This record gives sequence, structure tokens and C-alpha cells, in this order.
Amino acid sequence: MNKTIDILGNEISFDCMGCDIADHKLIPPGGYIYEDDLITIAQDPEIPIVGFMILGTKKHIKSINDLSNEERHRIMDVLNLTIENMKKIGLCKEVLIIQEESSSHFHIWILPVFPWMDKYDKSVRDIQEIISYAKDNYNESVKKELLETIDKLKTEFRK
Ligand SMILES: [Zn+2]
Repeated sequence: MNKTIDILGNEISFDCMGCDIADHKLIPPGGYIYEDDLITIAQDPEIPIVGFMILGTKKHIKSINDLSNEERHRIMDVLNLTIENMKKIGLCKEVLIIQEESSSHFHIWILPVFPWMDKYDKSVRDIQEIISYAKDNYNESVKKELLETIDKLKTEFRK
């Protein structure tokens, strides 16, 4: 069992974070932004960047190669809609998408690119530094903005 503190300050424990989010054993901060029988979309529970979305599969799989053709198409459609919605609510103009097969449960990171990231190379090269900066500069006002963004995205998805 893994234990950590989420970005809302709650202690969370999980065996596989992806499976526990899929099974509603671990509710992501602010709740589910989008959910169907194949995937969920939610705020990353551990990284305090506003609008930092995780698209996770419900099935415990490792690779995009483990999906059917139809599932890949559906995931791409929802990924597209997520990025569209992030832009529609004025969150960002660009995103950085990351999928690591080294992770045990398939997920896609969708990171909004913000002006405060200008001092970094806004690519996978500097992602750990961007995350460290966000953790060091996390405060109540960022938390408020983060939760408001989740609500805006939920509303946009319902349209
Ligand atoms: Zn899993």
C-alpha cells in the first residue's frame, strides 16, 4: 500500500493509483471531470499545477498497444475534447502531453503551459523542474484557482 498526501492536504493510500481512481476508491481532488466506461479525466492528485489533467484508463494496462483500435479512437477523441475545453475556459493556449510506458497503469498527462513556465524549456526535458517549482510555490490562492478550474472544466464537459 502506498501512502501520500494529496494536493488538498488529505492523506491518501492506494495499491495502484490508476485502478483506485477507476474504482472510485480514491477520489481525485475536486472529483471526476469526465468519466465513461473506458477512461477517467481528473486533476493529478499529487502535482499542484492548475488544470494539470490525467487521462487514465479504467483497465490496468501499460501501453497504448494494449488497447483496441476502437478504444484508441475513443481516447483520442476525449483527449482532443479535453484540450479544447482547457483552451475554451481560457486556461492555456498550449499543452504538453506525456505518456510513460514505464508507469504500471496507463495514463496520459495533459499539462497546460503557463507563462510562469517561460523560464524553463516547456518540454519533457524540464518537467521535473516545473513540478518542483509548482510544489515550492503552492499556496491557498493556487489551490482556490485549481479547484475553480476543475469546476469550469466539469461545466464545459457537460455542454
Ligand atoms: Zn492499475
